[in-house]
Amino acid sequence: MALLQIHDPEAKPKAIGIDLGTTNSLVAYVTASGEPVAVRDCDNEALVPSVVHYVKDGRVLVGRDAVALAERFPEDTIVSVKRFMGRGADDPETRRMGTYRFASEAGPVVKFAVAPDRIVTPVEVSAQTLAFLRETAEDELGTIGGAVITVPAYFDDAQRQATKDAGKLAGLEVLRLLNEPTAAALAYGLQEKKNGTFVVYDLGGGTFDVTILVLDDGVFQVRSTGGDSQLGGDDIDRGLAEKILPLLGAQTPHTVRRALNAAKQIKHALTDSETVQAELERDDGTLVDHTVTRAELDEIVAPLAKRTGNAAKRALRDAELTAADIDGVILVGGATRVPAIRRYVAELFGQEPLGSIDPDQVVALGAAIQADLLSGESTNADVLLLDVLPLSLGVETMGGVVERILPRNTPIPAAQAQEFTTYADKQTGFELHVVQGERELAEDCRSLARFTLKGIPPMPAGMARLKVVFRVDADGLLKVEAEEKTTGTRQEVEVRPSYGLTDEEVERMLTDAYEHGEDDVKLRRLREEQVEGKRILSALEQALRVDGTLVEDDEERADIEGAMKRLRRALDGEDHDEIRRRTEDLDHASKAFAGRRMDRSMKKALAGRAASQLESETQDARGIEPHLGSTEH
Ligand code: ADP
Ligand code: MG
Repeated sequence: MALLQIHDPEAKPKAIGIDLGTTNSLVAYVTASGEPVAVRDCDNEALVPSVVHYVKDGRVLVGRDAVALAERFPEDTIVSVKRFMGRGADDPETRRMGTYRFASEAGPVVKFAVAPDRIVTPVEVSAQTLAFLRETAEDELGTIGGAVITVPAYFDDAQRQATKDAGKLAGLEVLRLLNEPTAAALAYGLQEKKNGTFVVYDLGGGTFDVTILVLDDGVFQVRSTGGDSQLGGDDIDRGLAEKILPLLGAQTPHTVRRALNAAKQIKHALTDSETVQAELERDDGTLVDHTVTRAELDEIVAPLAKRTGNAAKRALRDAELTAADIDGVILVGGATRVPAIRRYVAELFGQEPLGSIDPDQVVALGAAIQADLLSGESTNADVLLLDVLPLSLGVETMGGVVERILPRNTPIPAAQAQEFTTYADKQTGFELHVVQGERELAEDCRSLARFTLKGIPPMPAGMARLKVVFRVDADGLLKVEAEEKTTGTRQEVEVRPSYGLTDEEVERMLTDAYEHGEDDVKLRRLREEQVEGKRILSALEQALRVDGTLVEDDEERADIEGAMKRLRRALDGEDHDEIRRRTEDLDHASKAFAGRRMDRSMKKALAGRAASQLESETQDARGIEPHLGSTEH
């Protein structure tokens, strides 16, 4: 007989804390007895993989169900979407992460093309994960009050705004965004110490973040942040997988995937055991036994640990501190379970780190405590939490130079005013360009907003007095106010980052995406066929240059050259079907030639493989899988 869970309809809705992670997310709340706990699903799992799968029939799967389909449908499965939050499509960071299918090349927001002919933004993808967490929490708690969502301390305005938008889209009332390291410190109750300097060392699946937190009279300030956005537990998996791969037979996307999965399991098991014996399945179906020792794992971990150490030392230097100034080190992130990492951190800071709270959960638990405080249930309401501005905010002045108004690391909420004047006679408007960043020239900073203050009466240069006020609220979001003081002309803008989403825009974005979805998908196809066609052409040109003698006769040469010419012509056009057909024709015409080249290189290879070649093959194994769940195309 199934038991029905009864929710007390009189009970005040519970506020929840959410850790929206790159690899895993989870939700927590504070129980009636004041204990923060993570919500577990029906399989008793608290961690929800931050993976979203779009099914051909229109359904959306989140978490483990999505992970299960990632391998078969890499293009319809979005992993690590947090890396794209608040980023423009033409952001260099976006370009670097090339394993995804982008729906369009340019524009203010990154978009992914997924099944069935859908275009989704990172905000929408994150909203799916958040909605999933909300539902999991509702199953346990009934109606939900507000939510506190955590973000990395270094998240800029656009990334914070995007996270907030995702929360709204997921049907959550976002009470506050909270810095992840601050949340971890709260979970350890460090605010009760009133004063101290702490390091939060967060090694997740694919990112490493280190934060120096100063607790001043019960108030947390982020003194400095550092890290490496391409370093995490997944790198340990890759290191182990490289050793496993040769045991599995030929290197194919399948064996690479299997090696990575096995590596992760072995890594986890080696956290508690000194040796692990794994049974690996080779590509021919036979089994092979493989033993890995803790010492072997340590060897793989050592260089990675050292990289985290370098980033941590840099953060200390930025904060003008040394390891001796640190009163406590908090471990966050699943990968800090690895014993070699713990040992390394202990040595680096000369003290045992705090690791008694589950490092996977600590951020969500802290967020739950904050949510509880904000929803006014708790008696502990005197804890005021403060963070600092992660990046400087300023305006562009003459010559494209930045005038900083709020420097980075200013505690928030904060406000600061500054006066400017006109540089030309009879100037009747001020153009204000708000930028974020540490560079001296506006063009090197992130552009947040532009607006013009009009209606100033003509005056000689230098007479007008423009007062600009920057206000940053507790979420780290900026409002700019400008006033011409001699006339009282005023204007206020809530600065929306360049990706710029107001509530209405979020709505519009959704409808737009559906309207333009088809065009976007067509364009994407064309681009893909063009890339493939050009790739084959240039590979063949190269092959003919090097191995031209392997062409059998004039007839074959004429066939290949004719097909090449037709493909070149198709590439000048815009018809993706035509390009695909011509590419296939060329493939066909050159098959025999390619076969002869292959035979010859096989013979060469069998005659003895050069060490340098072996080296480059192991390199490939590493490059093949920058993100779990997106290799096979
Ligand atoms: P994120 O903050 O990026 O979402 P997590 O904090 O959830 O990531 O960390 C995920 C990483 O932690 C993965 O690389 C996973 O393999 C690793 N991990 C989880 N549990 C263990 C364990 N018991 N031993 C070693 N590594 C672990
Ligand atoms: Mg995390």
